[in-house]
Amino acid sequence: YGYQELRPPMVEYVDLFIHGVGATTDIVTKEMFNITPRGDDPDARRMAMRPEFTAGLVRAWLENGLYNNPQPTKIFAYGPAFRYENVQKGRFRGFHQLDVEVFGAQDPAVDAEVIKLGLDVVARLGLTGLVVSVNSIGCPQCRPRYRQALQDHFRPHLGELCEDCNTRFEKNPLRLLDCKRDADHPAQRTAPVTLDYLCDDCRRHWEGLLSHLAAMGIPYQIDTRIVRGLDYYTKTVFEVLHPKLGAQSALWGGGRYDGLIEIVGGKPTPGVGFGMGMERVLMVLEEEGLTAPFADRPRLDVFVATLGEAARPVGLKLLYALRDAGLSADIDYLGRSLKAQMKYAGKQNSRYVVILGEDEVRQGEASVKHMDEGTQARVPLDQIIEHLRRAEA
Ligand SMILES: [Zn+2]
Ligand SMILES: [Zn+2]
Repeated sequence: YGYQELRPPMVEYVDLFIHGVGATTDIVTKEMFNITPRGDDPDARRMAMRPEFTAGLVRAWLENGLYNNPQPTKIFAYGPAFRYENVQKGRFRGFHQLDVEVFGAQDPAVDAEVIKLGLDVVARLGLTGLVVSVNSIGCPQCRPRYRQALQDHFRPHLGELCEDCNTRFEKNPLRLLDCKRDADHPAQRTAPVTLDYLCDDCRRHWEGLLSHLAAMGIPYQIDTRIVRGLDYYTKTVFEVLHPKLGAQSALWGGGRYDGLIEIVGGKPTPGVGFGMGMERVLMVLEEEGLTAPFADRPRLDVFVATLGEAARPVGLKLLYALRDAGLSADIDYLGRSLKAQMKYAGKQNSRYVVILGEDEVRQGEASVKHMDEGTQARVPLDQIIEHLRRAEA
């Protein structure tokens, strides 16, 4: 797909998230870990642990002048993010995200590309049966009319809706659509849908997205209740659901944010991307009885086992030579018996064990044991690396 890794810092100024994520979002109002500045620093600005990646990636893109490169910029980032949450299954205060972003392209084919990319990532882990839910939430041209329609619709029911909905009613009425506490309220189900209010530009983009998804063979459903929790989304919003997580809870989600880069201080530049929570992916893998390929400890090429004091320096010298030759090699550091060293080598899943006993050292040789086949051969010390290479070829 041609994406390059960018590693933004874990800490940013709070202002970036207030502007770049949205002052009324749950992330900023309830979930951010703020860092108290040092009291003796008169220039201290409030900072926060990153609750998500997009805002920091936009800032880094702007500060480093990456917009001067040929566009679009296709980047990914991976690492920890932090949110003040009630810890529960699949939800942690410190979690890991795979984040994928494209800056500088408006084409709905890019929206379809990032959706497909995410599906490809989890398909490599063996996860299938995912459902992509898509919606378009319009743009600054068409959204005011929709907001008005939403407010007209919900106003008579405000007394029956939760506190959060009442707060959001003026500032961010779209969020009334995905309030989980009021999910069963009839007003939520009969609310006007964004798709009926799209301007011509948004409608063309939406139809383009659907045709690209169809061309890629991606099964999708239209869910007009998806608005995403962040203020910066425009046009495409999507969530990827897994049957094991239920309809209320997405495995990951994302969307288009054509206004964000300007909000953070750049020229108007479109963008689209997603953030995938790794702990959730792992949880679903586990429930499906799948293990992530990266969970397997890599095999050790050679374990050097020594017996007796004379063999120890010879073993260490061989260990260093093996590592210099590019083989992964290890040795015992706890004074284990030969039998215990062999057992330890087995636990490390070593391909070979090179055994140096008193007799071997006296003759300038070692016994090389092939652990999978159980075969063993005496090899002159200066030919061991060559012997192992030949055996593996
Ligand atoms: Zn529009
Ligand atoms: Zn509510």
